[in-house]
Amino acid sequence: MATDPSAAIVTVGTELVTGQRLDTNGAEIASALLTSRFAVVEMLSVADDAARLADHLARLCAECTLVIVTGGLGPTHDDITRDAASRALGRVLVRDAAIEATLTRIVALHHEPDAATQIMTQADVLEGATVIMPTTGTAPGQIVPTPGGSLVLLPGPPAEMRPMLSTFLSQRHPGTPPVRLRSTGIPESDAQIAAQRVIGDARGVGLTVLAAPADVEVVLFDEGAGPRELARLGASICTELGDACYSTDGSSLPETVLALARTRGVMLACAESCTGGKIASALTDVAGSSDVFEGGVVAYSNRLKTTALGVAAPLIDQYGAVSEQAARAMAAGVANLTGAQYAVATTGIAGPTGGAADKPVGLVWFGLSTPTGITARSQGFSGDRQGVRTRATMFALDLLRHALSERE
Ligand code: AMP
Ligand code: MG
Repeated sequence: MATDPSAAIVTVGTELVTGQRLDTNGAEIASALLTSRFAVVEMLSVADDAARLADHLARLCAECTLVIVTGGLGPTHDDITRDAASRALGRVLVRDAAIEATLTRIVALHHEPDAATQIMTQADVLEGATVIMPTTGTAPGQIVPTPGGSLVLLPGPPAEMRPMLSTFLSQRHPGTPPVRLRSTGIPESDAQIAAQRVIGDARGVGLTVLAAPADVEVVLFDEGAGPRELARLGASICTELGDACYSTDGSSLPETVLALARTRGVMLACAESCTGGKIASALTDVAGSSDVFEGGVVAYSNRLKTTALGVAAPLIDQYGAVSEQAARAMAAGVANLTGAQYAVATTGIAGPTGGAADKPVGLVWFGLSTPTGITARSQGFSGDRQGVRTRATMFALDLLRHALSERE
């Protein structure tokens, strides 16, 4: 059986190996390569050390068809990637006149006498390389031929790296996009078993299951089956996952909820106690949410539950803030305040303290206000404080999804 050509990813920067910056480029590039014909076999981060980087690049270029490097292409003394690549491949650096011309206007903005010399180093290109001109930033990317394939040099800032990576991949290595099915409320292993059952012994399909708290993504890759077969299997797996499957195009749960509200022509709102604004944050993370998200109230204290949401103080005294009655009153209160047709409320015990025998840590009451009335339900969540809050946020969004999916 033919094996996929291999790829390696190298991220360069002392800030990465000292924990001052998180290497997000590595993960982004690896994800992008999933849909290509390359199999990533190695990913490493190297300090701004030209000799060390040159050693790694020489080895990886000998072993792998594709080597992608990010970082160290800027104009400062610690930007050593060009030099290291030149040493690794034995290709000299040549000053590129076209890049030099674009850099002269940047030089004019600087006052330090040595700035021009430094800035112009960005016009140094490995002999025989193809240049990828930047759409943002100043550092160009380079595609350098190696004995076994290519070495690709990309800038470190993610916003500069991203467009160059997609240009490179789409021009050189078009592939079928993966099918991404997302679900909530189903364990990762159940989702994987269900997907595997549907795939059976079908050939040419790769399967990965990615799990986050209360969010399981089943990803199908084209390994020869073709886009139609991939779509067919995706639809069958979604049916198998049932109600838990909330999207078949990779959309997140907040995106799905907002799209449903848009289709219905209704507004959403939330009243949050234990989730502390995470529902509102998740919804407003999505660009364009303002057309269907009215807003939310973080009513953490009992006093604010009463003054902002109109939850009767005697109700809280009698049943407690974490109760069915309080959840209902909070949902009704925020619907009343905002005029939104669909509103969700959370009140629970995120922990680690504050639990009791009848109201343990992880217990959350949810209130839901819809055009057909007010309902409430409770759910127990596992995990630490952040885990409980994240799962409760997903659960609340899922309640909205179900309510918005119901026929009127
Ligand atoms: P450089 O191109 O090495 O000068 O990197 C410029 C900036 O890009 C760094 O200071 C980081 O903030 C960011 N950066 C570099 N490499 C990465 C990476 N692997 N992941 C995320 N950000 C990065
Ligand atoms: Mg750097």
